[in-house]
Amino acid sequence: MQAKASNVSTDAHAKIEMALLLKMLPDVQNLIALQQADREILRLKEEIAALPKRVAAIEERLAGTRTVLEKAKTAVKADEAARRKYESAIQGEQQKISKYRDQSLAVKTNEQYKALLHEIQFAEQDIRANEDKILELMVNAEIREKDVKAAEAELKAETAEIEKEKVEARRRTAEDEQQLAEWNAKREKARAGVDADLLPQYDRVAKYRGTGLSEARDHKCLACQVMLRPQTYNEVRAGTHVVVCESCQRILYYDPANDEVADPVVVARRRRAHPKFESSQAWYYRASFENHGEVFLVYINSKGMSSRHVYDGSSGRGVGDILVREGEYRLAFPEDFTDDAIRLNGSWGESELEEWGNELPTATLDALHRDLDLARVESRTRSHAKSGAVASEHPAAS
Ligand SMILES: [Zn+2]
Repeated sequence: MQAKASNVSTDAHAKIEMALLLKMLPDVQNLIALQQADREILRLKEEIAALPKRVAAIEERLAGTRTVLEKAKTAVKADEAARRKYESAIQGEQQKISKYRDQSLAVKTNEQYKALLHEIQFAEQDIRANEDKILELMVNAEIREKDVKAAEAELKAETAEIEKEKVEARRRTAEDEQQLAEWNAKREKARAGVDADLLPQYDRVAKYRGTGLSEARDHKCLACQVMLRPQTYNEVRAGTHVVVCESCQRILYYDPANDEVADPVVVARRRRAHPKFESSQAWYYRASFENHGEVFLVYINSKGMSSRHVYDGSSGRGVGDILVREGEYRLAFPEDFTDDAIRLNGSWGESELEEWGNELPTATLDALHRDLDLARVESRTRSHAKSGAVASEHPAAS
């Protein structure tokens, strides 16, 4: 019945894909829409909840910086108070000294005089000690000043940042709320399109497992990774009625578009553009070339002349000299086009080619290898089709 597309044109292929898609039950299509809506709603709700937390985290950092600033300011004040204390101590000692000097004028004995001199010396020592402490505070004050300034600058920057974050959070929240409303509407619409008996099954499984729907691909339930029985898998693919995964109870669906993506042949067919034969630049691969092994060759046609560069297939380094001959490249270098020559896609600017000089850049080399891989897959499929191998048969038939 379904001739799966492996040797049909892209157009026909798209038609078959549509036909397969149309076989998907409306219930299942709505469930897919519902699951997508549920996922988006969850994501948006989480994002909306996370935004104030981000602002709160910055606010916390801001509070931390404020504390640092307060501490720095308190330290400055404590230093100032200490300095005043030392200064008044000095004053006190100076008063004592002048009092002793007055007394010394009135002393009667040498003993008394010596005792007063001693007192004066003590007071002078005390003054010097206090002066040292004041000097120390003055040195410290410079550091303290820097601390205060740094904390103030940080606070200013953080305050600006939090303002910006708040504006951004408000904007994002409004945007998310709007999207949330849209997804809620889509969700309601999708739910309305699902059979009333099927909806509780989806809801129940979604509640316990996070999702209520799973894709069946490659004979497996993608959500729980359990292999499906062949009959179950075929039923899902046929899309005639709703099938549930026996292992995880999720409702199963089959998406032919996804299944084909996993098929390298289809990937090659879809993605590989075919090289144009009439182009000014043509790339080729040859598995062996003049005793050299794998090479990439590029022919450049210009004004009735052709030039040929040859590069080593693995290192990308130039091989031999650049040859220039008269005429279109296929006529100018007929000996190059043996059966094993594979035409590749590739078109780089002339200036780029000049820039590379005698070595292909890695990116170019990678691109050529990728195209070579695809070209090989493609040629294998073609020879399969020619030899009548049943590569195109529907897997369900086996
Ligand atoms: Zn499952």
